[in-house]
Amino acid sequence: MYDVIVVGAGPAGSLAAKKCAEQGLGVLLLEKSALPRDKVCSGMVMGVMAQELVRQEFGEIPYESLTNPSHLAGFLLYVPETEPQVLEYRMPFAWRRDLDFWMTQQARQAGADIRDGVKVVSVEPESGHCVVRLGQETIESRFVIGADGANSTIRRSIHPELNITYRTAYRECYSGELALDRNYFHWFAPLSRTSPRFSLCHKGEFFLLGGALKQLRSEANKILGSYGFSGRERPIWKDGCISGAGVNLKGGLYSGAFIPARDNILLVGDAALLQMPVSWDGIGMALKSSLHAVESIVDALATGRDVGEIYLPRFASLLDILKDLDLLGARIEEAGKQGRKALAAAWADGIKAALSIA
Ligand SMILES: Cc1cc2nc3c(=O)[nH]c(=O)nc-3n(C[C@H](O)[C@H](O)[C@H](O)COP(=O)(O)OP(=O)(O)OC[C@H]3O[C@@H](n4cnc5c(N)ncnc54)[C@H](O)[C@@H]3O)c2cc1C
Repeated sequence: MYDVIVVGAGPAGSLAAKKCAEQGLGVLLLEKSALPRDKVCSGMVMGVMAQELVRQEFGEIPYESLTNPSHLAGFLLYVPETEPQVLEYRMPFAWRRDLDFWMTQQARQAGADIRDGVKVVSVEPESGHCVVRLGQETIESRFVIGADGANSTIRRSIHPELNITYRTAYRECYSGELALDRNYFHWFAPLSRTSPRFSLCHKGEFFLLGGALKQLRSEANKILGSYGFSGRERPIWKDGCISGAGVNLKGGLYSGAFIPARDNILLVGDAALLQMPVSWDGIGMALKSSLHAVESIVDALATGRDVGEIYLPRFASLLDILKDLDLLGARIEEAGKQGRKALAAAWADGIKAALSIA
């Protein structure tokens, strides 16, 4: 019997496992993919919250876990018929394969047991402990932290009643370079509407196109045409994932119909829908929620109180951040109706506000 089983070796799960081990708890981290694994993500350690938590909990990111450029100088925002806006903001920049593996290795060094290539199929509460199923095999623990991302199995296990729908984010990787400054992350509003958007960045000898590519294919080709993209290039590879921001449960999270805890099982990071609106970063909130979850477990063990009752008020502070950003997102949409200049100004203000959240 482990004290804690953590499901998912992303930033949320790796930090949860590391902190549990540092607290002297017996902890097992389970990951369905073989490690190191990549994740559909731009790989920017973006705002104040993410940058401070990564430094505080893991230290400076080593150069070999970053890409080229190792740091971005900021964002360039493009709204048709307006001047591109530069937002200077220095950010560590990585492939998630390397960044996340650096974090997972620290969990291992702290004393966490790690098993990769094993998919958790369900978790069930059973008289004061949890039964985690991996196909035929079961493992037991006192607590479970569900850090298994936007398509969370643990969320489905504890809320089988929820009718969940998703949106997919796509990514395409090309070799070479476009005539866009590789030290910036380029974000484009399409010609025909205010959202969704698409992005372009350079990593090493590649450039990556990301976002709502299914809806925006022809507009992306047209806009990027002026930077040397013919639209006839074939990507070296492409992939996609369920976007944490595109799960339909946000209303339920705000109303209390969807609670990110049940019995001794807590959800964190994207599994708890914590990807931020407006800036779309999720690493900071993933780390913050993991800290709250581990502190809640330690508190519950010391006091005998219900762990969910301890976790949910802490989680509520993260919900307040999401709600504020949703309001900002609505303001950006509103501004879009007033014209492109208004959209450009509101978009830049919104991203600045999101990045400054600590
Ligand atoms: C296109 C895109 C771009 C983004 N860009 C950024 C960015 O630049 N910066 C930023 O901060 N955020 C970005 N995000 C958001 C960010 O990727 C997520 O918010 C963040 O990865 C959440 O971390 P997590 O640890 O909660 O989950 P994840 O990183 O998704 O990790 C979950 C882990 O659980 C594992 N898992 C899933 N199911 C199971 C199972 N049943 N059993 C065992 N293991 C399982 C998965 O394999 C995975 O390793 C982006 C998201 C998208 C979609």
